[in-house]
Amino acid sequence: MNAPHDSLATWQDIDRKHHIHPFTDQKALRDAGTRIMQKGEGVWLWDSEGNRFLDGMAGLWCVNIGYGRAELVEAASTQMSELAYYNCFFGTSTPAATRLAALLAEVTPQGLTQSFFTNSGSEANDTVLRLARHYWAIRGKEKKAIFISRRNAYHGSSIAAASLGGMAWMHSQGGLPIPDIAHIGQPYVFGEAGGEDPAAFGRRVAQELEEKIRELGPHRVAAFIAEPVQGSGGVIVPPASYWPEIKRICDEHEILLVADEVICGFGRTGKWFGSDYYGLKPDMMSMAKGISSGYLPIGAVMMTDEIANTLVSGGFLSHGFTYSGHPVACAVAVRNIEILRDERIVERVETVAAPRFAEAWGGLADHPLVGEARTIGLLGAIELVADKAARRRFAPDRKAGLILREAGLRHGVIVRSIGDTVVASPPLIISDGEIDELSKRVGMALDDAATSLSN
Ligand code: PMP
Repeated sequence: MNAPHDSLATWQDIDRKHHIHPFTDQKALRDAGTRIMQKGEGVWLWDSEGNRFLDGMAGLWCVNIGYGRAELVEAASTQMSELAYYNCFFGTSTPAATRLAALLAEVTPQGLTQSFFTNSGSEANDTVLRLARHYWAIRGKEKKAIFISRRNAYHGSSIAAASLGGMAWMHSQGGLPIPDIAHIGQPYVFGEAGGEDPAAFGRRVAQELEEKIRELGPHRVAAFIAEPVQGSGGVIVPPASYWPEIKRICDEHEILLVADEVICGFGRTGKWFGSDYYGLKPDMMSMAKGISSGYLPIGAVMMTDEIANTLVSGGFLSHGFTYSGHPVACAVAVRNIEILRDERIVERVETVAAPRFAEAWGGLADHPLVGEARTIGLLGAIELVADKAARRRFAPDRKAGLILREAGLRHGVIVRSIGDTVVASPPLIISDGEIDELSKRVGMALDDAATSLSN
């Protein structure tokens, strides 16, 4: 229960005075006032005023098993009572951290066996950068230090992770990127292929990696990092020709392949990992979000035996966090992964939910405002256009994506706008009826947006 003095006006007032929000127009938020979320159950959220929303974004792509699972509450509470904290420095570990390491080795793609724990996806990618460079240095190739990433990639918001990311608007604040990071193009068919055949486009964009490696010199390149499907970039699904070509190039030039599975991991595509979906054999994999369904902050980097054993041969590793392997976060992650496994949630996404979603979300393509509707697993995107036949976008200052998102809220559905690409990523436990409801509500929001944008 709320204390008697708690009310939306009080919370908004306090928020205005004391809280700077992540990835938010601070001024606009202070004018509009914060929405206060208070309760979650399954795929549904309620705000402080009793408004109910179908959470088409699973929080921030993370609440894979849905809100309100008592088993995770119990796992946290039991672990907290027994041992609320201990670290993994100084030759110690905890049963929860060892259990999670074992479980991750079981569910991740073959060949990835060893974990390093972090608290977030950003920390996981910072860890990747440091470990990969250290790995090559131990092997006597300290010049292999450059990371190649992609324009419009998102890998987190710490200094290294944001530098790995390819978002110019993020680099423009805080003096980024750091040195020795290079970017190539992205396999964004709707946005960038023009009239080119998608398969040819996919191969051509992949070959930018080879050109960049040649330009920099393979002896200087440590790794290529990418999400199997770009999430925050706008649910960008690469053509089938893309990943096989990337794999070939990494193998031929002795470049580590790092899969950022922070969004794709733990069932999002209908396979346990995006790497499974595309048959990738990454050397390292960063993960967070779905690892604990967002119930507590935790991330990890998985690596091959070859990398881990090389790091072991290097002796002292000067990297880690107070909360690497936090026992409560690990206990929650273990229980979450057991639920995903034992309730066969990932298999259900592949065989039942994803086809249903493809049909329901795909139906939005008929709307006059939609230039393309695409899905993969339980990820979906629609591209808003001013002219459907010509696939012409709205002028950016029309803010079509934001208008649609706001209209969605009025229809009780949460989706996200990334420019004029509107994306969805609902909890994996979403029922068939809720999948239809999600698309229906987005359809109603599209009608509203069409009216606003016609003025
Ligand atoms: N990588 C990817 C692909 C992500 O989507 C995100 C978060 N959206 C991150 C890394 C960063 O994770 P975090 O916000 O937990 O630091």
